[in-house]
Amino acid sequence: MTSYLVTGASRGIGLAMVEKLLQNPSNFVIAAARHPNRSEDLQSLRTKYGDERLTTLILDYADPASTTAAAERASMLLPNGLDYLVSNAGVALQSGETFDTIDLEVFEEELRINTIAPVRVVRAFLPLVRKGKGRKVVFITSRLGSLELAPNFGALSVTYSTTKAALNFIARRWAPVLKQEGIATVLIHPGWVETDMGDELTDWMKDHLPERRKISVDQSATDCLKVIQDSKCENAIKLYSHDGTTVPL
Ligand code: NDP
Repeated sequence: MTSYLVTGASRGIGLAMVEKLLQNPSNFVIAAARHPNRSEDLQSLRTKYGDERLTTLILDYADPASTTAAAERASMLLPNGLDYLVSNAGVALQSGETFDTIDLEVFEEELRINTIAPVRVVRAFLPLVRKGKGRKVVFITSRLGSLELAPNFGALSVTYSTTKAALNFIARRWAPVLKQEGIATVLIHPGWVETDMGDELTDWMKDHLPERRKISVDQSATDCLKVIQDSKCENAIKLYSHDGTTVPL
């Protein structure tokens, strides 16, 4: 069995990745979410696939203790280690604001969840990734975190963009270190996707980037999993878009 742990698996892209992964009978999936029991979709998947294929874990990016507890529980479930760790959970808590009007406390909260928590999560699960055969750590990030593209995005989600830029930087600084242990770091922009988060961007995208098209959550999950499979252990990692093209950093 190949093991995957996906965070933010209650809905959106995380849930769709879990669903896709379960279609391959040789995969065992841990779906981590802050309230796994409240996600009807996740519960239906548990009923459909059973405990041998899918387990859920409580993991709240805003609660460090839940990360430690989740890693301990996962280590009991995975005696042969974890093959793929996918840090997908994320939030966009304020949009359409400029830096002179943003709420700084909300900015701090976004940084804690989108930037600091993924570091904590990877650190907590690294011992298990080291024991696994797949040896990949994946960050779901955003092209909004590109420094080069930043001038194109006006006042769109400036704080969210900042948190993802920092996440991209962390991944690029960490990748050469993890590569020394044969662990690949993968940075993926999942596309503009039909999820709760993606739908909030619709008006801005129509007005400012009308040529861009929203993709289905199913398409995004399929594409992201292909990018993960195709990725290699590299020093200077790139930011891959879901379709396999690269996004300037
Ligand atoms: P959604 O808003 O649909 O889902 C977000 C997921 O993150 C949910 O499962 C949510 O759980 C979880 N989450 C939120 N806060 C926490 C927390 N404190 N701890 C643990 N989990 C949490 O977003 P998407 O599926 O669209 O986004 C997934 C990833 O893709 C994010 O990292 C996002 O930044 C990125 N992305 C999305 C794009 C898009 O167009 N949709 C574009 C570019 C990047 P809960 O149900 O409990 O709230």
